[in-house]
Amino acid sequence: MTESLLFAPHDLPVRWRHERIFTFVDTTFSAFLPLWQRWRDDEARCERLHVVAIAQPNALNEPPSADDPSPLAAELARAWPMRVPGVHRLEFDDGRVVLTLAIGDDVHEMLAKLWLRADAFHLDAPDDPRKLCKTLARFAGDGATVCANASPAHRPTLRRALASSGFDCSPDATDAPLVACFAPRWRVRRHEPPLRCDASAREAIVIGAGLAGCAVSSRLAARGWHITLIDRHAVSARDASGNPAGVFHPIVWRDDSVAARLTRAAFLYALRRWRALEDANHELHRSGAGLLQIADTAEDADALAAAIARFAYPSDYVQAMTRADASRIAGVDVARGGWFFPRGGAISPAAVCAAQIDDASARITARMNTEVTRIEHDGRIWRAFDASGGEIASAPVIVLANAHDAARLAGLYGEPTRSVRGQLTVLDSCALDPLRMPVIGEGYAVPLGAGGTLVGATYDIDDPDRAIREAGHRENIGRVAGMLPDLALMPGTVRAGRVAFRCVTSDRMPVIGQLADEHAARRDARELSGAWPLDLPRIPGLYGAFAFGSRGLVWATLAAELIASLVEGEPWPIERELAEAIDPARFLLKALRHGEISPASCG
Ligand SMILES: Cc1cc2nc3c(=O)[nH]c(=O)nc-3n(C[C@H](O)[C@H](O)[C@H](O)COP(=O)(O)OP(=O)(O)OC[C@H]3O[C@@H](n4cnc5c(N)ncnc54)[C@H](O)[C@@H]3O)c2cc1C
Repeated sequence: MTESLLFAPHDLPVRWRHERIFTFVDTTFSAFLPLWQRWRDDEARCERLHVVAIAQPNALNEPPSADDPSPLAAELARAWPMRVPGVHRLEFDDGRVVLTLAIGDDVHEMLAKLWLRADAFHLDAPDDPRKLCKTLARFAGDGATVCANASPAHRPTLRRALASSGFDCSPDATDAPLVACFAPRWRVRRHEPPLRCDASAREAIVIGAGLAGCAVSSRLAARGWHITLIDRHAVSARDASGNPAGVFHPIVWRDDSVAARLTRAAFLYALRRWRALEDANHELHRSGAGLLQIADTAEDADALAAAIARFAYPSDYVQAMTRADASRIAGVDVARGGWFFPRGGAISPAAVCAAQIDDASARITARMNTEVTRIEHDGRIWRAFDASGGEIASAPVIVLANAHDAARLAGLYGEPTRSVRGQLTVLDSCALDPLRMPVIGEGYAVPLGAGGTLVGATYDIDDPDRAIREAGHRENIGRVAGMLPDLALMPGTVRAGRVAFRCVTSDRMPVIGQLADEHAARRDARELSGAWPLDLPRIPGLYGAFAFGSRGLVWATLAAELIASLVEGEPWPIERELAEAIDPARFLLKALRHGEISPASCG
């Protein structure tokens, strides 16, 4: 494709000039490098260029070669994602150029799973384009342009389909792609595609300086927002995020469930952000030898080996391991086979939090030793207050990243979160001294070098006891010995322990996104009984990032990127179905659908 065919139909670069964001959707996966180059060369470029490219998995087989004429090809090659399905978000030029790469077997089906507002579409049209054109109409921003390749035989069908979806087609020229512009005579779509939140200034309050709040602060700051980050402790990462180390890895299971897909996207995104922090000289204490998962039973090990082969996962993502292979790479005997994540490992949650704050320090004002007891909205501005009624901060956007206290501050109905006590044990010299990498399964063991071996963790639902218990240490050692049997023979001595509390929901998925206006939804319960998530009334400027359960390390960064994308009206970094699985409104929606809420019950 010549560059004039890429830019002229969309009137680029003129249309992106002085815009905050410009979103270009490309189903040919050929536009990114020329667009990026053009954006770089244009001094009046938009603040943030989003290219959303949709492709089949084999598009990831090879990164751009060293012979590629574009000087940016090497940069893209360095960020090249693993060959796994789902949405990959890659950032360049300090995050001002974003490539969202959606990988699926059927390109048009994959496109339909996203959620975004597009300014331009660059397409290879299928023979029957009707469904595709409806998708374009769902995503098109005002005046969005389409440039579509279609064979001469299929051009008339494409013109008709575009026209009936609200696009005005340019006069036909059979030797050029078909060009059209979104100009619907009337509005028929049920949901408007994402729009930036209505904020008078790019200022936000984030409550909670654990993994959730530090990640949200970092992703908003990267978009030019100024953050007031509030925590009741003197420093960040003192509660659940204060453990000496935590493990991170994707979930691989027999089916590619929503949890597995979400965790995969989150894992890959976290790796990219952590690498960016490390490249900026932040020490995250990240282990580098991979992570081993031991199956609960020999049958599970076999089933997972079959699933890994069936999904054709690449070896840099996951590898099936026999017991002998697993013992060899672990450096200690393991009880069963399992699977190995070469890019998984352990990391210091507190170091991740500190690095995120430090990296964005020019845009973050930390208000530590400060407890928020109440928040209030006057229709335009959010205010956070302390126990004496003093105002701590005000801003048009507020993000609740304060785990167990988030539901109370938001005034959510019911009790959507619960607390799960977890006790960790640090062992002195023991049978696991030769362990070369973190091992997970029934429990987990993380080598801390001279710091001993971390084993854990208990899972005590609704147990508020902060005291460290001997029984908890025994439980941890017993659980880990079930997968690393030598530990039973030589458990060593307990050097230290720590208790913290996971915040969980009933479906064990986190709560990420804009909060629903539960009061309004309850009042309109009858009309909303068949509602979709996008139908629900939402509270302007109020977002949540909490209930990360046992996976805060993996989930927090992508969660933050999703929230920043919602706030800015940018393409979502995951499929809509996945975002709906973590939508704060999902419990309300279920209750509305099941008729469990009647207008009379609202109080
Ligand atoms: C024993 C144990 C082991 C774990 N192991 C792992 C692991 O290996 N891998 C992994 O990924 N995850 C693990 N987790 C889970 C992980 O630690 C959590 O998911 C993560 O830390 C949650 O981060 P958060 O920011 O949501 O919450 P927190 O870290 O608890 O942060 C919430 C913050 O909000 C502040 N706050 C609350 N209310 C207010 C208020 N009203 N005003 C001001 N500040 C407020 C608190 O002071 C706190 O700093 C483990 C958890 C436990 C308990």
